This record gives sequence, C-alpha cells and structure tokens, in this order.
Amino acid sequence: MRNAYTLPLRSWLASALRRQAEATSCWEPERRSQLLERAAGIAKKAIRVARSHQNDLPHALREAGLISLMQGSVRKARQYLDESLDVAKRQAARFEHAQTLLARGRAGVALGWAGAADDLTAARQALMEMGADWALDEPVAERTVAEPEPVTLSLADRFDTVLDAGRSIASALAPDAIFAAVRDAAVKLLRGEQCVVLRVHPERDAEATPVSGEMAGVFCPTMVHRALSASRAVTYSEGASDEASETLLLSGIRSALCAPILVRGRAEACLFVTHRGVSGLFAEDEQRLADFIAAIAGAALENADGFSQLQQLTATLEQRVQDRTAALEASNIELQQFAYIASHDLQTPLRGIAGFSQFLQQEYQGRLDETADGYLVRIIEGTKRMQTLIKDLLSYSRIDSRSRPFEPTNLNEVVEDAVTILDSSIQDSGGTVTRDELPTVAADRSQLVQLLQNLIGNALKYHGDQTPRVHVSAENGGHEWTISVRDNGIGIEDKHHERIFEIFRRLHTQTEYPGTGIGLAVCRRIVQRHNGRIWVESEPGRGSTFRFTVPVR
Ligand code: ADP
Repeated sequence: MRNAYTLPLRSWLASALRRQAEATSCWEPERRSQLLERAAGIAKKAIRVARSHQNDLPHALREAGLISLMQGSVRKARQYLDESLDVAKRQAARFEHAQTLLARGRAGVALGWAGAADDLTAARQALMEMGADWALDEPVAERTVAEPEPVTLSLADRFDTVLDAGRSIASALAPDAIFAAVRDAAVKLLRGEQCVVLRVHPERDAEATPVSGEMAGVFCPTMVHRALSASRAVTYSEGASDEASETLLLSGIRSALCAPILVRGRAEACLFVTHRGVSGLFAEDEQRLADFIAAIAGAALENADGFSQLQQLTATLEQRVQDRTAALEASNIELQQFAYIASHDLQTPLRGIAGFSQFLQQEYQGRLDETADGYLVRIIEGTKRMQTLIKDLLSYSRIDSRSRPFEPTNLNEVVEDAVTILDSSIQDSGGTVTRDELPTVAADRSQLVQLLQNLIGNALKYHGDQTPRVHVSAENGGHEWTISVRDNGIGIEDKHHERIFEIFRRLHTQTEYPGTGIGLAVCRRIVQRHNGRIWVESEPGRGSTFRFTVPVR
C-alpha cells in the first residue's frame, strides 16, 4: 500500500535538518554545509513524492526554498517559495500558505525583495486569525514579561459549558439532584468517560462509598484519601508508579481524577472521573475545573441543607397552625352547642315565668299594695329582657348549625325584607332607609336578611338628636363587593371599632340604649361564613358606616 499516510515524512525530516543547520555555530561551517546538503537532497525527494501525493507539497517546496536560500541560491529559492504559495492556494491550505508567506517575507526583508513587508503582514494576520500565532515563532523576548498566563484554548472553549454546569449545580435543591448535575458536568467539562460521586463517611475513617442510586463505577480508595488530605483535585495517568496505579491499571483505567466536595470545610463527598481510552487526559486545567465543580457542589449542598431545614420548619409550622385552627374550631363548636342548649333549655321555664307573671299582673293588679305592683312590673320587664337575650343567643348559635347552602341572592330584596321586619322601629324613630341599586350575590339569603336587619336596626337605634337617615350602597372592587350601611347617628370612638364585634360587648347602659351586645357578633359570624370581612368607619357625633364584603361570583 502506498499513500500519503504510509509514505515517510521527508519534508519534516528536511525541516529538522534545516533547523539543525541553522543552530550550528559559525565555527563549524563544514558541519553546517553537510547538514544543508543532506537536507537539500531530502527536500528534493520529498518534492518528488509529493508530486503524486500532494498533501505535503507546499511544505516540501517551502523547505527546498529555505534550504536553497541558506545555500546561497536566491533565484532557485524564490521559485520554490512562489510555487509553494501557488500550490497551497490551489489546495486551500491556509496554514501552509501563511507559513510560506511568512518565510518569503522574512527572506525578502533581508534580501530586499519587493512586497516583503506586505508578505509579513498578511502572514501574521492569517496566522492570528487561525489562532495559530504560535507558528509565528517570534522570539519570546518580544512578549511582555509581566503578561498574565494566557488562557488556554481548551479552557476558553469550555467557558459556556462551565457557566451552564455551574448554574445547574447551584440551582439544584436536593443532594440527589446536585450529584446528578455534578456527574453531568464532570463528564461534559472534564471529558471523562465515567463519573462516580462518592459519599465520605467521617465516622468510618473517611471511607467513601458511591451515593445511593449510583451505577457501580470504578474508583480507587488510595486516590480518594490523597484528594481528601490535599483538599483539592488529584490526578492519575497511566504509567504513574504510585499505589493508586495498580487498582486502576487492573480496571483498565488510563486516566483518573478525584476531587473532594467540601461543605463548611469538611469533606462530604468526592467526584471520581475516569477514562479507559486516553491516558494523560487530566492535566492542570482539568484539575482546576474539577475544583470549580466541587466548590459549587459544596455550596449547593450547604444551600440544600438549609433548604430542607426550612422545609421541615415550614411543615412543623403548618402542622401547628392546623392543630391550633382545629382546636379553635372545636372550642367554637362547643361554645355554640353550649349556647344552643343553654338558651333552648332556658326558654321553657322562662316562658312559664313570663306567663304567670303576666297572669298575676292582669288578675291581681290593684289588689295588692303598690310596692307589690312595682315588683310585678320589674319581673315582667326582666323576663322580657331575658327572652330577648335568649332569642339573640339562639340566633348566634344557629349561624353554623342552621345554615343553608348559598344561592343567588338579590340584595335589593334582602334590604326590603329587613326594612319590613324593622317597620315598627322605623315608624317609632321617624327615620328613613334608602338604598342604591344593589347586586345579586351567592349567599345564604335568610342570614343576609338577619345581617342587614341588625346593621340597619342599629343605625336606627343609635341616633342622637337628629332623625335617623340610613343609606345602603354597594361598590364593586373586582373580586368582591363592598356593601355599606351608613347612618347619621352618635358614632363610635376609634378605640371601640374592633371590640364592638365581640359577643356581649356594649358601649351603653340599658337605660341609655337597650340591647344584648350580640347583634354585631352575629353579623361578624355571618360575614365570615360568606368569606368576607366586616368593619366600621366612624367618628363620635358624625355617624357610622358599617361595611362588609362578599365575594363576586
Ligand atoms: P347591641 O346593639 O345589642 O348593644 P350590638 O352588638 O349590635 O349590640 O352592638 C354593639 C355595640 O356597638 C352597641 O352597644 C353600640 O354601642 C355600638 N353600635 C352598634 N351599631 C352602632 C351604630 N350604628 N352607631 C353607633 N354605635 C353602634
């Protein structure tokens, strides 16, 4: 078989001999001319072979040119160089073309050839563009000494992947996800064939075992220990004569890298990357990258730890809130049941007392003395008050137990109903109740009647010198309606705005304004059952506006 790959690389031999000749001291002219002669012969042979297998032709021609120059044959040299350029151009061999151009330019500067400077500039530019500026072979002294170590092409190449890998490791919130991202990054960035993540067990003398769910992979405990004690990535390459080599060699591993993952300064895990095909795969760049991956993984693990603690805390907190709510609901139900039983059972004997005292009054009025008559009046008033109290308590206890399902409820009708019930209070006070056009909402109709009856009733009751004027209006706030009951009554001091909604909370004596202190507590429960809020806006002497919300359906 005879092809470009099986033929000897004569042009490279010619290059080597020419370089050797260049390096010969001027005190050895003979040796120099011998080397050049040999080089010239080989370059000619190289050209001959390259005529049929052309890959190397530009190189061979360039060598022949340079050697001729050194031997003093300027014209011949120029011919070779020009031909090298032509061939390279025809082959679109950019690198070869740039190199011959560089050679012709350099020779031309020394020999005064026209266009030499242009040749040099074009060659430099082409080589830089290809990222092959090393081929310029400029003396090292030309570079500034203080220049920082250049970023190697391989690192720059992987920059985007480095960022992506860092991001996906850092954003994982559970150890398993972090390890998966680490494995991924190690294979992609370090070009490893396999990556095992190992858990380090400090209590078991820093023994390391693959994390659960990990496919069985090869790792070497000696290297793990080395990495743990160095606190940074360590590598192995085929041919090393340390303890690690045996285990790895037996597993057919040719390159290995181990980097510890530290959390708060303590090794929690490490990554072990291996390759069976390539030896010397992991050099300094890879060590740096591995340390970078491990550092991010360490931070992510710390973060995940905080996150899981937070989750636990939230879960406990939620549980506690649930327990408290359940306890509150239980006690609320108990209270309502108690209120119901007490008021219900009280009603019967009270009815008897009321009946008999009225009977006494009707039958015996004037037949006893005046004091006895006065007592009778007080008994009857007392029983009436007690009946109201029990009636109110019963209605409070029935808000949840006697509730009905929600249905479309026209608030205009609700207000009309409440006004009808309150007719006598309106007549007595000489007041007026007006309303805007009100919406229809999903509600327990009878409870809303009770709610508006209480609010309008209070508005009529707590009036000062002026005749009461009550107005009901509604405002659409997007997801909920706000219904307002405004009056021109006595108003309420700021400090009582919250408390008046508590059960039995009253601001007046019975003689000033009779009442039980249950009405607003009933209102609040009804509104809460309808998923709304209730509050008052008021100033003493300037009237009050009670507002409550109902969700828009
Ligand atoms: P009651 O009216 O039976 O006393 P409520 O629970 O209905 O009980 O009201 C609690 C307290 O709130 C009342 O005692 C009164 O002082 C005050 N209040 C309620 N509505 C008004 C109002 N429209 N104007 C002024 N004060 C009011």
